[in-house]
Amino acid sequence: MSYVDQVIEEVITKNPAEPEFHQAVKEVLESLRVVVEANEEQFKKDALLERLVNPERQFKFRVPWVDDNGQVHVNTGYRVQFNSAIGPYKGGLRLHPSVNLGIIKFLGFEQIFKNSLTGLPIGGGKGGSDFDPKGKSDREIMAFCQSFMTELCKYIGADTDVPAGDIGTGAREIGYMFGQYKRIRGLYEGVLTGKGLSYGGSLARTEATGYGLLYLTDEMLKCNGKDINGATVVVSGAGNVAIYAIQKAQQLGAKVVTCSDSTGWIYDKDGIDVALLKEIKEVKRARLTEYAAARPSAEYHEGKGVWTIPCDVALPCATQNELDLDDAKVLVANGCYAVAEGANMPTTLEATEYLQANNILFAPGKAANAGGVATSALEMSQNSERLSWSFEEVDGKLQNIMVNIFHNLDDAAKRYNMEGNYVAGANIAGFEKVVDAMTAQGIV
Ligand code: NDP
Repeated sequence: MSYVDQVIEEVITKNPAEPEFHQAVKEVLESLRVVVEANEEQFKKDALLERLVNPERQFKFRVPWVDDNGQVHVNTGYRVQFNSAIGPYKGGLRLHPSVNLGIIKFLGFEQIFKNSLTGLPIGGGKGGSDFDPKGKSDREIMAFCQSFMTELCKYIGADTDVPAGDIGTGAREIGYMFGQYKRIRGLYEGVLTGKGLSYGGSLARTEATGYGLLYLTDEMLKCNGKDINGATVVVSGAGNVAIYAIQKAQQLGAKVVTCSDSTGWIYDKDGIDVALLKEIKEVKRARLTEYAAARPSAEYHEGKGVWTIPCDVALPCATQNELDLDDAKVLVANGCYAVAEGANMPTTLEATEYLQANNILFAPGKAANAGGVATSALEMSQNSERLSWSFEEVDGKLQNIMVNIFHNLDDAAKRYNMEGNYVAGANIAGFEKVVDAMTAQGIV
């Protein structure tokens, strides 16, 4: 059995009931096969892959909090510190009922390579809780966040582990968590990113993931003789990533005709009205039915369906495994020529393979959505300097980072004779830097 297959098998045996983690490890190691085979003896002797797939450390803890009726609830909190070879652990905190250790490990594992691809000194980590912020009052959210941070603050710090937002963790939650960290540790430091502008946040962080997705997509299209200007785009999601992806796509001249949330989706033949979408999702925190009620050109449908709308470019920006093989077949049949992942692992392995086999340009999330974490690292730099950069300065750096990421993965794919395979290119480019650092630092 090859070394790659042996490690995949061990991961499955040792971590039962963590299918998302298995999927992420398989996807990465399969595409690294050529690199591993070229160095198999050394990597095996150093147990390099075993060290890569085992987190350096993981925490699981109780999070008790009291609701507005005096009822006590207990959620589970997680923080997985996966790999610190190239910098302090960095990765978001997800608050969603689906959260379990396997999901946090899949996200933390992917984060290692994504962070490496940014070219910035940040290691890989991830955390969160199975707490559901939906329908909770501000006081209940604060009670949860304070309890969560009371435990988490023991394990994080500006030079050790710097969490950020993710699904369910926006500016409000980061604010409550930052306040509690400061109160307990007595330290005013850049321990979290995604902070508000009045207390150390970075301009352009809110927009960064969605904007970055479009900067990379734009570069990928240009390098393949296509143009985002004039393209019809379908987007899933209606959260932070989706909203700013839609906004930047429109600024670049594309027509975006869909968005979705966890209950339904919108088809707006005149193009999504971003101001209205922001008002509904960012201010009112309401459902998409309100969007359709306010826009005569829009149709609302229950369930999932954005991939059925004919498009040139598809941008999945909601959650993992939301674009499956059947969806991929519909996209190809409808003439879509590019898919770029705004969310983390939104495309199933079978769907990815089908898209690539049909010559669809495919940009994986770990490269395409790296703008968020890259700008988080820029927020860390500003906090260390105790300075704030202008929106234009941060946005300009973000644009450069995304264009460089695309060329790094394009070059890596070409070096291993896999031109156009950006999945392999992203994994190889991210892996090479981490392996170099791990090897230099000895067996730790
Ligand atoms: P948000 O919580 O702001 O938005 C998530 C969106 O996806 C919402 O519209 C939500 O619907 C929808 N959604 C969530 N779960 C499901 C589900 N199971 N089925 C269908 N729709 C669902 O999160 P973000 O926009 O921040 O994150 C989206 C994705 O991007 C995630 O995979 C995240 O890990 C990834 N990502 C985010 C980054 C960031 O900077 N924010 C950085 C890099 C990656 P509803 O409104 O009903 O909840």
